[in-house]
Amino acid sequence: MYTITLIPGDGIGPEISKAMIKVVEATGVQVRWEMQNAGEEVYLKEGNPLPEKVLESIKKNKIAIKGPITTPVGTGFRSVNVTLRQALDLYACVRPCKSFKGARTKYENVDLVIVRENTEDLYAGIEFKKGEQETLDLIDFINSKSGKKIREDSGISIKPISVFGTERIVKFAFEYARKNGRKKVTAVHKANIMKYSDGLFLEVARDIASRYPYIEFEDKIVDNMCMQLVQKPELYDVLVLPNLYGDIISDLAAGLIGGLGLAPGANIGDEYAVFEPTHGSAPKYKGLNKVNPFAIILSAVMMLRHIGEFNAATKIERAISEIIEEGKFVTYDMKSPDDPNPPVGTQEVAEALTIKVKSY
Ligand code: NAD
Repeated sequence: MYTITLIPGDGIGPEISKAMIKVVEATGVQVRWEMQNAGEEVYLKEGNPLPEKVLESIKKNKIAIKGPITTPVGTGFRSVNVTLRQALDLYACVRPCKSFKGARTKYENVDLVIVRENTEDLYAGIEFKKGEQETLDLIDFINSKSGKKIREDSGISIKPISVFGTERIVKFAFEYARKNGRKKVTAVHKANIMKYSDGLFLEVARDIASRYPYIEFEDKIVDNMCMQLVQKPELYDVLVLPNLYGDIISDLAAGLIGGLGLAPGANIGDEYAVFEPTHGSAPKYKGLNKVNPFAIILSAVMMLRHIGEFNAATKIERAISEIIEEGKFVTYDMKSPDDPNPPVGTQEVAEALTIKVKSY
């Protein structure tokens, strides 16, 4: 029996979590789900979107799976997801994007793994608000030291990238490639412009790559990477990126395989792992039993492999492949406009998967 922390999250989180639990339970793997609430509703009730008991539960169980959590844009509380990743030092975000036969997309044969650094870069949360004294002091300091002029009415977000943070994420990407029989790692950056942050990322990546001569290594500037992925995604394998580019390219890669409904993810550190879909809380669909549960269920597949339940993971993956190929029990986002059969709801997808998983 495993004890796993479950954070259902906001918006569509609770309904996709319910679907995920049903499918995992169909494999016969015994899990005691330790339910913990975090996010917008908890913030409104308790004044803190990430209560200490949630972190304690994950620290105790070492493994968690979560639904998406709403982050207010521009103002309000800081992202719970970012806080969680930083508090538990979940430095590697792993997001596989693999084509499923029958999925509605322009591309075939996409098989990418995005390895995104999760703790540094513009996500470090070091920000200075326009007009505050400390911001004005910082602007004075920068103006005097750099010889450049920042306007007084600026807000500032800081982008730290360290040797330590880069070494461990690039090593993680190469170790992932080694253990999973991957052939190539591509480091993505904008080192031509940000010479001391992205430049450092690239320099460290090259150094780590030299220790893995049996895995091909290359680097790409992030804007070119976007174009390359849209034109010939099949040429790429494992991508390693600083935090912000990793976030953006993850969604781009999800788009290549048919959308966010199919993109799972894991946040992994040396001690803890938190699994979650790449997509957000899609508030407009909350409670409608409409959205695709595949991304969180595929995140559970990653989790099952992480805890050594390979057989259960393979069964769920096989059921998902078959359901997508059959095209009958899938949600609206996986249907083409000319499909004569209407889409089904979130729980109906879970039911169809459960029947398949139990039949293997
Ligand atoms: P979103 O991922 O919620 O939605 C983007 C688009 O994808 C929408 O059209 C949505 O309807 C669709 N979509 C998302 N999940 C889907 C699913 N499972 N099935 C079918 N369609 C799906 O992104 P957003 O609208 O930019 O963000 C909404 C909220 O989610 C924001 O508050 C954001 O901060 C938060 N968010 C949280 C996480 C996380 O918890 N890890 C990640 C991304 C965004």
